[in-house]
Amino acid sequence: MITSRAFAGKKYAVLGLARSGAAATEALLASGAEVLAWDRQEEPRAAFAGRCALADPLDADLSGFAGVVVSPGVPLNTHPIVAHAARFGVPVIGDIELFAQARASLPRHKVVGITGTNGKSTTTALVAHILQCAGIPALMGGNIGIPILEQQPLPAGGVYVLELSSYQIDLTHSLDCEVAVLLNVTPDHLDRYDGFAEYRASKLRLLEMQGPDHVAIVASGENGVEECVRAMTTGARSKQWFAGNYLTDFASEQPGWPALQGPHNAQNAWAARMVCLALGLDRDQINRGLATYSSLPHRMERVTEHDGVLFINDSKATNTASTAPALAAWPPMPSIHGSAPRIHWILGGLAKEEGLGECMKHLGNVAAAYTIGEAGPRFAELLEPHVPVARAEMLNEAVQVAMEHAQPGDVVLLSPACASFDQFRDFERRGECFRQIVGALTGGSDDDRKALARGCPQ
Ligand code: ADP
Repeated sequence: MITSRAFAGKKYAVLGLARSGAAATEALLASGAEVLAWDRQEEPRAAFAGRCALADPLDADLSGFAGVVVSPGVPLNTHPIVAHAARFGVPVIGDIELFAQARASLPRHKVVGITGTNGKSTTTALVAHILQCAGIPALMGGNIGIPILEQQPLPAGGVYVLELSSYQIDLTHSLDCEVAVLLNVTPDHLDRYDGFAEYRASKLRLLEMQGPDHVAIVASGENGVEECVRAMTTGARSKQWFAGNYLTDFASEQPGWPALQGPHNAQNAWAARMVCLALGLDRDQINRGLATYSSLPHRMERVTEHDGVLFINDSKATNTASTAPALAAWPPMPSIHGSAPRIHWILGGLAKEEGLGECMKHLGNVAAAYTIGEAGPRFAELLEPHVPVARAEMLNEAVQVAMEHAQPGDVVLLSPACASFDQFRDFERRGECFRQIVGALTGGSDDDRKALARGCPQ
């Protein structure tokens, strides 16, 4: 656990005792802070009974508190805790801010902060992997894996690699990353912001919080990002690196990185390489990491190859900007019969956007589309003028039909461009379901296939 003298004798309120809130409470208590903790549910509260005060901070007098710690799931634009804390002049913060405040108590280290609409987890895991391969103590935290305050501090010379969503950045005020990465900003989460500019500004704050000598890496300057970074008057001013043409730069190298295919992964790899160069690694060390990285589950994850057909689980692609690069990853392969598109694209679910955005640019790579879920009929209408479409409704049906049509050399790709909640608990469950279905259809027993015909547990 990460503890700090900085918290000793201070008072904090913690609202929400799920994993990061519980870890924050433990870290604060172990550091000698006084904590007022609360969760709507009895069970998470019970874990702290007798160890700290348990009451709703919304009803509490917060005079003299050093902060109210909330989870990134709390919508700051609508939740009453914001106004309540403001009445007492108390900042609303998250566990990353506590980590930032604890840094002075940790052995000598560096922090890499990674944000963007898409590619955060991949780039975070990739940077941590490259560092670990090079023998540098590194751990991942933030929006990925175990809450940062629950982890063991790194020895001197270590690097904390933090994946940061805009919600987490909104709750962070003093994190000065030695290296900050802004991957890309495209419209997302607009229910929590007053328009795109405010969402973009939230991500840009990661760079604004940096000291002037620290490094900012901007992998896509699109949607006004580059102008905003160049105009920034605070934060990383002197060392800004903007992406060049990584697709051309990496054309000869990317085939050697099996888990990093597609133009989006070229972007992630570029960012990871720049981070590692900034941290002082050499090209050989970086290349070893890129070549040996294996993908995170549900992100362009290779499930299996069966009868020459590749099955890819990209269930994490919950918006069109993250699906578009997956569609670009398998262009038609030239053959003696000319070249035919290879992707059998399974898409649909709970749409976050009106249309299919950038995905429409890559329909030349799509052999057929198989629509599922609530957005299925609408997507089918959009696609039918361009590619063959099977309206499947359920995922098991979509995979079955796609398999019947796929030829050796083709790819069956689940990259839904939608949230999963209409049919599944979350994107992980959707991806697991896809794996199960593929497993049953490609290698399973008759019983597996029969179970499948009854549907996959949602
Ligand atoms: P995040 O943590 O930001 O959600 P992930 O690394 O988990 O990002 O990837 C989420 C989805 O976005 C995956 O489906 C992946 O294929 C796609 N993706 C990954 N990197 C990028 C990128 N740089 N640009 C656009 N899409 C991406």
